[in-house]
Amino acid sequence: MKTFFISHADCALHRAPSDHPECPERLAAIDDQLIASGIEPWLRHREAPPVTRDQLLRVHDAAYVDALEAGVPEHGRWVTLDGGDTYVGEHSLQAALRAAGAVVLGVDLVLANVTHTAFCAVRPPGHHAGRDYGMGFCLFNNVAVGAAHALEAHGLSRVAIVDFDVHHGNGTEDIFRGDPRVLFCSSFQHPFYPFSGADTHSENIINLPMPRDTDGAALRSVVAERCLPLLEAFRPELIMVSAGFDGHLEDDMANFRLVEADYEWLTRQLYDIAGRHCEGRMVSVLEGGYNLSALGRSVVAHLKVLAES
Ligand SMILES: [Zn+2]
Repeated sequence: MKTFFISHADCALHRAPSDHPECPERLAAIDDQLIASGIEPWLRHREAPPVTRDQLLRVHDAAYVDALEAGVPEHGRWVTLDGGDTYVGEHSLQAALRAAGAVVLGVDLVLANVTHTAFCAVRPPGHHAGRDYGMGFCLFNNVAVGAAHALEAHGLSRVAIVDFDVHHGNGTEDIFRGDPRVLFCSSFQHPFYPFSGADTHSENIINLPMPRDTDGAALRSVVAERCLPLLEAFRPELIMVSAGFDGHLEDDMANFRLVEADYEWLTRQLYDIAGRHCEGRMVSVLEGGYNLSALGRSVVAHLKVLAES
């Protein structure tokens, strides 16, 4: 079975007013590397549908969704969320709807056994968005929308979400903290934006704060010791991934020192657990990753493992 690569042209229309690291060129860089790497024959492309309001409301408050819809600015204008650099422009909402819709489609395809694995190449990213807030370049929590869809529409009872972005997945944690149907594991640089996650106490949340300059060897040993055994014991029916590649050595957004081989290793551990517990079902969702070359290469390393299914 091929890995489904889900995206939509609208995801490239979302744009900040000037130079911003979370830019449309990120998706183009991934596309370029897909071609350069020769991995294309193992992928099947699908267009993301827009997420429905009902699907969004499983994890977001109606008032937040309404406010985003009402606040879409006219051409050439932007509003910011979080008082900072999370921009909403004229096309941002349609991009965000496709980004979340991609993950819903990925979950539907994997749970219908059309494929075992899916990767959603989408933006804006999602893991910093909570029920009633957007922040950190995120509007809707794409991976959470997908996990909730797996639980509510497909009746699953155990979904694991593993977030290896260099930033803590605070939004995903906020949405699922205390929900025993979801096991959430997030590895992240600490102390660092968004300055959360180091002192969470919840049975279903595994946070792995790690210092700046963490390299692949250090990350692998912490993940192997503190995440994988709990993931194995959870016996997930679906593994979802918040796949952020901003911990790459060449990525200036943060200070981890990971390389493509580390993302390949991480993906393989999850892939093996998925193989043992849920017939290899994995849905992965792009989060961060801002050095264009490193992002493209790292996504290919990730996809090479997924495409073995
Ligand atoms: Zn990040």
